[in-house]
Amino acid sequence: MSNLQAAENQKLQQEVVLPQRTTRKPRDYQQVSIYKDVNPLDWEDWHWQIKNRICTKDVLSQIIKLSPEEEKGIDKAKGRLSMAITPYWGMLLDPEDPTCPLRRQAIPVAEEFIVSPHEMTDPCAEDRDSPAPHLVHRYPDRVLLLSTDHCAMYCRHCTRRRLVGDHEEKEENAQNRFDAAIEYIKSNRKIRDVLISGGDPLILEDDALEDLIQKVRSISHVELLRLGTRVPVTLPQRVTEKLVNMFKKYSPIWISIHFNHPKEITKRCKIACDMLSEAGLPLGSQTVLLKGINDRPYIMKKLVHELLQIRVRPYYIYQCDPVRGTQHFRTPVAAGINIMEKLRGHTSGYAVPTYVIDGPGGGGKIPVGPNYILSQAKGKYVLRNYKGKIYTYLE
Ligand SMILES: *Cc1c(COP(=O)(O)O)cnc(C)c1O
Repeated sequence: MSNLQAAENQKLQQEVVLPQRTTRKPRDYQQVSIYKDVNPLDWEDWHWQIKNRICTKDVLSQIIKLSPEEEKGIDKAKGRLSMAITPYWGMLLDPEDPTCPLRRQAIPVAEEFIVSPHEMTDPCAEDRDSPAPHLVHRYPDRVLLLSTDHCAMYCRHCTRRRLVGDHEEKEENAQNRFDAAIEYIKSNRKIRDVLISGGDPLILEDDALEDLIQKVRSISHVELLRLGTRVPVTLPQRVTEKLVNMFKKYSPIWISIHFNHPKEITKRCKIACDMLSEAGLPLGSQTVLLKGINDRPYIMKKLVHELLQIRVRPYYIYQCDPVRGTQHFRTPVAAGINIMEKLRGHTSGYAVPTYVIDGPGGGGKIPVGPNYILSQAKGKYVLRNYKGKIYTYLE
């Protein structure tokens, strides 16, 4: 083992014994003055949660002690991608600590308004690869359908901030919005997989979501339907019996859920994930690598372990896309590779996601990770394992 690796391993050992910063018990909303009279049935009603989202400095400062950077950020973040936080998420915020990983994901700060070199409006060139409104077709056999511009909460690291936010959606005939996209999928028999994302598709009303799912499902060559969502994490109340029963009718549906930090895995979130699993929807996670939030191997390890416990299979870790105003979230690529090094072999294979960089300019997801092939000659591979021991494989 090299000195560097020994030093890294020692650091990892130390990190494991660090005191736990996360307290998993959310604050009791009835102890917070602005919510003390809220009826528990209202709190559990996802429409109530949406209607009562925290969108102003005034309301937020009654829940947590705002830092000057946050105050400046909230003032500046007017219009597109302005702040919107569900009261549920509000109760997960550390009231004192502005470095709280859930605060940083939800509350704008002044740094968001700095545009750094290499940053782009549409880093993955999705608009260029769009053959019909709301549709992105990049890979041969699958498409991405952007179902809405809205989310339960607006993440400050959003890669689609050019589209997403709490503005009025363009006046479009709701009935015909997706006609061209559906026609395109129908006429392209190579498309066997449709990923419905957004925005967050689970923010649509049951009828509108079912209508869209039904239209996609009725195309005979579409084998696989997937949903990309963060609602089980930001608004678990949205996952109702009625919703999961609707999903059952269109099985198989796979779901990718955006999880970034172990603190997001609450009892309430587990209930939502259990309902989806028990309705037969396989769950995967998507995680964005974020500086100061989940860029330490021990945090990521804790996250993937806890995901398996709620039956969510870690799927992807994304390098934070070079989207405008996200410099303060971006880590070096080496941080991601180091995390993969500390996972593979050291823990269950099911706990190990794939770390990808979405090739800027439309390259699609490119896997990156530690190198395990040391050399390769005719009929011979020299490999190393997770401990750094060397093995030769003869073909
Ligand atoms: C991520 C993505 C997909 C799905 O990719 P998988 O690797 O199959 O999960 C499809 N289309 C676009 C444009 C994407 O960005």
